[in-house]
Amino acid sequence: MKICGDRQFELLNKMGFVRMGGTEEELKAAHILKEEVEAMGLTAEIEPFEIEDYVETKAELEVLEPYNKKYIVRAYKFAENTAEEGIEAEFYYAENMTDVDIANSKGKIILVNGIVRLDLFRKILKSGAVGFISMTGTMLDTDENSDLLQRSIRDTLRAFGNLPAVSIRTKDAFEIVKNGATKVKMTVIGEKITRTSHNVVTEIKGTDKADEIVSFGAHFDSVEFSTGVYDNGAGSVINMEILRHFVENKPRRTVKFNWYGSEEMGLLGSKAWVKAHKDELKDHVYMINVDVGGSVLGADQALVLASKEATSYCDSFMRRNGYAVITKQDIYSSDGVPFADNGVPSTSFIRFGAQGAGYIHDRNDIIDWLYPQALARTTKFVLGYAEEMINAEVFPFAKVVPPEMVEKVDNYLFKKEMAEAARLKEEKK
Ligand SMILES: [Zn+2]
Repeated sequence: MKICGDRQFELLNKMGFVRMGGTEEELKAAHILKEEVEAMGLTAEIEPFEIEDYVETKAELEVLEPYNKKYIVRAYKFAENTAEEGIEAEFYYAENMTDVDIANSKGKIILVNGIVRLDLFRKILKSGAVGFISMTGTMLDTDENSDLLQRSIRDTLRAFGNLPAVSIRTKDAFEIVKNGATKVKMTVIGEKITRTSHNVVTEIKGTDKADEIVSFGAHFDSVEFSTGVYDNGAGSVINMEILRHFVENKPRRTVKFNWYGSEEMGLLGSKAWVKAHKDELKDHVYMINVDVGGSVLGADQALVLASKEATSYCDSFMRRNGYAVITKQDIYSSDGVPFADNGVPSTSFIRFGAQGAGYIHDRNDIIDWLYPQALARTTKFVLGYAEEMINAEVFPFAKVVPPEMVEKVDNYLFKKEMAEAARLKEEKK
């Protein structure tokens, strides 16, 4: 069988619609993948799992002094509700939340730079601010050519506390600061809901080493406003083509193919899969993840969440076969993480867009920037690399997630912080 970029591109086009975790569209994409698998004569399952989500009913931000204007904002998912009539407070631009900013934020509604991750969130909580605003997009945006992203106060953040929060376009934040806003009113009302998201799974039993399993993973959900063809329809169709190869060329070890839902909401699909299939993980010797690809301008990378030996093995394969792939031992924020957390090492393949030519997590993630040749090229080396280990007489390296990678995984999953949050909660009792 020859790898066919055009066939991949066709499937990519077919699933190139917004498909957020837990939505009808995500399920529709799951069925497209399932049908594609079944057309090869295999069976595929759609495995459901529950996710936590949020519905906003009201989100408002109004500058009261020294001028009056309402701005378009979105509530942070899971943010604490304000009263129906909102909260009024002094406005303060706390920038990057230095100690000086922390000292100046008490009782105020503050604006901060960047994405509010746990570190920054804890500083906001510590400051005694009564609400916060963060920005999305760029200064060049207009209401018409941009989308205001909805951010989320994830459970790892909420473990420490919560408060009302909204996101605003960067150009509007600019206007508020430049015009010297001193007093604002913020209203945030919403509620937590449960949705059902789905993984799509299939497998081909190995011929003579069937009890050892290598799994292929790619998330197929997208973020809002994004057709998610680069992130990660591309990985989804790359793995589909690899599956097609193994239908015709039976592997010695068992191969599993998992397309994960709700990755964008915090690796929820792979976390659910690992939890539901915990008993079989002892048989999983490796995981191969593909997340973002197909871009015309870009560079391929392999991030190996495994031992130095496994990293050298990957690098050596690429060199010997003449593939330009930057190979590093490192963690990547994707579905390999829950596997590593359960002792299964992995490699994530990523084709990062070149500076100024890569669009991710917004309306500009569209098929125009991708082409079949890049999909086919990545497919070729991921398949070559994977097939060599899958058909090896003895697996080429030990199944181990070394301590330096375990540390990165624990940091990524905020394990220390979660233990601290649990301790603080205990002390409060
Ligand atoms: Zn992704």
